[in-house]
Formats: sequence, C-alpha cells, structure tokens
Amino acid sequence: MSTSTATKDTNVSNLLPDNNAVFDELDFPRDPDNLYRQTVGQMLVASELIELPHRVKIILAQPKNEIMVHFPVRMDDGHYKLFKGYRVQHNNSLGPYKGGLRFHPDVNLDDVKSLALLMSMKCSLSRLPLGGGKGGVKCNPRELSTGELQRVARRFTSAITNEIGPDYDIPAPDVGTTAQVMAWIADTYQMSQSGANQADGRRVVTGKPIEIGGSLGREKATGQGVVDVLVEMLPEEGIPIEGMKVSVLGFGNVGSWASRILQGMGAKVVAVMDHTGAISNEGGLDCHALAQYCVENGGVGGFEKANTSTASGNNVAAGATAITESEFYTTPVDVFIPAALEQMIKEEQAALINCKVVAEAANAPCTPAGDRALMEKGIEVLPAILCNSGGVTVSYFEWVQNKSNVFWDEETVDRELNKHMIMAARRTKLARQHYDCDMRTAAFIASLEHIGKTYAVRGIFP
Ligand code: GLU
Repeated sequence: MSTSTATKDTNVSNLLPDNNAVFDELDFPRDPDNLYRQTVGQMLVASELIELPHRVKIILAQPKNEIMVHFPVRMDDGHYKLFKGYRVQHNNSLGPYKGGLRFHPDVNLDDVKSLALLMSMKCSLSRLPLGGGKGGVKCNPRELSTGELQRVARRFTSAITNEIGPDYDIPAPDVGTTAQVMAWIADTYQMSQSGANQADGRRVVTGKPIEIGGSLGREKATGQGVVDVLVEMLPEEGIPIEGMKVSVLGFGNVGSWASRILQGMGAKVVAVMDHTGAISNEGGLDCHALAQYCVENGGVGGFEKANTSTASGNNVAAGATAITESEFYTTPVDVFIPAALEQMIKEEQAALINCKVVAEAANAPCTPAGDRALMEKGIEVLPAILCNSGGVTVSYFEWVQNKSNVFWDEETVDRELNKHMIMAARRTKLARQHYDCDMRTAAFIASLEHIGKTYAVRGIFP
C-alpha cells in the first residue's frame, strides 16, 4: 500500500470542509480544533464521495440524544462531591446504542459526542446489528479509592437507569473503567428493575467479569483486533510480523494486549511510552513483565530500574532503557501503535514519528494536521474505526451469548472475532480501491454505505 495517488484530492485532512453547508445549517462550533467538528468533518468527506443524501448526513451529524447528569457522591473523608456524567446516543438505525463509559478528568460533551459517532461508524463497518453511543464521568479514577469508585459508578448508573437498557443502550468498558466497574453497573441496574427485567438485567452492560456473564476473550479483544487487522493489512506493505519492530503509545488494556500478542507472534516491541515515562529496548521489551509492572506501579515509568525482566529470545531481551519523549517518537519502527487517548498525534509528533504504518488502536488518536503530516511522509494510517473495533465486536458476542444463554469457548470467540476483523479490513480495502482514497475515508465510506442503505429502505418518519 502506498499513499493514494488519486487525481481527485480525497485526503480527509485536506478536504476538511470548513465551509460545508452542514456545519452552518446545524450551527456547529467554529473552533477547528474541536474534536466533534473534526470527526463530523471526516464523516462528511466520505459522505460527499458516496453522495449520501442530505437527510442522512444531517441525521448523522448530530446524535439522537445527549444526556447530561449531575450527581453527588460521598467521599471517604465524609464530604460530598458533585460529579458530572454523560451518555450520548448517536444512532440506532442498525440496532441498540452501544459503546463504552469513560472515567477520566477530561471527559466533556463534544468528545463524548465524537466517540459516540465513531461507535456508530465502527459497528456499521463491522456489520454488527448495533448503533453507536458513548458516555462517561468527569473524574480521575486513579485518585478515587475503591469505595469511592464504586459509589461513583453506582450513583451514575442510577442517574441514567431510565436511559439505558439491555435492548436499548448497552454500555461497556472504556478508558478508566474495568470489568469490575461493569459488574457494579449491572448490579445497580438490576436492583432498579423487577421480575424478568431484573433477572435479565445484567445484559445492560458488556465487558463484565466472566462470573456474571462476561465473555471469554473480551478483555484482550481490542488488542487482538488490532493484531488481526495488521495480519490482514501488512503483507501489502511487505512487512512480515515475525521480526517487525513496533512502538506503542499507551500501555493500558489495548496497548498491553496488542503488544503481548504481537510479541508472541515474533514481533519486537522496541519502545513504549505512557503518562509515566518512556522506555526502549532494541532487542524487544518483555511485554509480559512490563504489563505486570504496570499493574503494580500504574505505568511504564521506572521499568528500567525494576529489573523484573529476565526473558530472552529472538524477539525479547532483558531490561530496558529510559528514553525521552522525542526519542520515543523518533525510534525507527515498522509499525507505530497509538493506544492512549484522542488527539495525541499532532503535527509536532507526526513530524518525529519514524514508521511505515500507524495502526490506530485508540479512538481518534491523530488530529487532522497530524494525520496530514503522516500521510505527507508516506506513512499508511490504518484508522481507528477499523483497527479498534475488536472490543465492541466481542461485546456483541457477549450480548449474543447472554441473550441466548450459551457460553462460547475462547477459541470460538477468537475465530469469530478474526472473521469480523478480516471482513471489516477487506471492506475498507475495497472502498479504498473503488474511490481511490486514503484508508480513513475508505473505512468511513464502507461504514456509511451500510447505514445509508438502512435509511434508503426504511425512510424517515413520518
Ligand atoms: N469502549 C470500546 C470502544 O471504544 C468498546 C465499546 C463496547 O464494547 O461497546 O470501542
């Protein structure tokens, strides 16, 4: 794959339609750095290429529902703190709203709206019978005790109980939330129901612990999906997985699982950075030891002193060296995996990045300017709505298993996930060939064509 040589300029970043009539018609924020404006801009570029009817464009440019709540929580020291929570339901034309709940200090309405829209795109690209939603609570889970975290999760659930439901809107883990948080949400929701609704209420969330109806393979699913996409896409780049060099930004659930799986396949993870520091090892970091270190220490910083890694082999070497942020970005690798938060790859970082392929494991990790800078350097960007759809795909499997009271073995989950990821990747490649555009636009096209068909068939009420 090389960057597009289309005669028509189909690069999303170049085409961000500052003067798109839809922005004015819907009175969008004018700030070009606004994530929601950028996300809708990317969608509109793809919509123009496939000539999506205006009525569908305006429906998709705004979420159906934006729910905002404030709720008090008793802190351990006895005082009460007011928290703000969101649930945005973007679109349910393909099925119930679906998407994670984020607990993070930066959670805000525009970002949650963007992430909800991306969920609609992700589910459609993977042909899941689900719509898109997202939510969150503005808080710092790292600063909350377990008791406080539990009370935030339960009180937030109680505030949105009437807005979610097992066949209406199904939350899941996201940044700052875990299977344990899902268990508290499921329990709180169940307590608010009666009769059959109560018994079946656990289906209101996915990403649950196995003991209460979670699916095998869900925890690693997003990281596994990133790897499945790489296996499908990299042959065209002439990059074999065995021996390829990888750097990873963010070592939470997605980054650490993708790294561990890639390491198991013979790739070398040579540099990792997160909010606590950056480390490298030319011979390949021991990602299993690093993941364990992160559980115990909250991040990768200091791993170079910990000496926990004794592994050696052809893709792992013992130890690590602390590096600076710019050394991290300039480390030469085949694949760079941003697996942290949105908007971290701006023009400045893109200028430093030294790789052939960027696999977006986080949602919206690149700004349009960052995206453009990567493309100008000839770097292939595999977009997030393709790369990180593994999480919601296995969430869908969990929901199906709960609905039909069956329990799949891990082999079945992995096999079905792999099929979905390969099909989503192939749809993206086909759209790219057909429209001669970049991968991001192609993924949006493959997704919008599917949603567009549902509106063409069902029409718009009344
Ligand atoms: N939070 C994940 C995402 O952004 C998973 C969503 C889900 O499983 O519903 O895709």
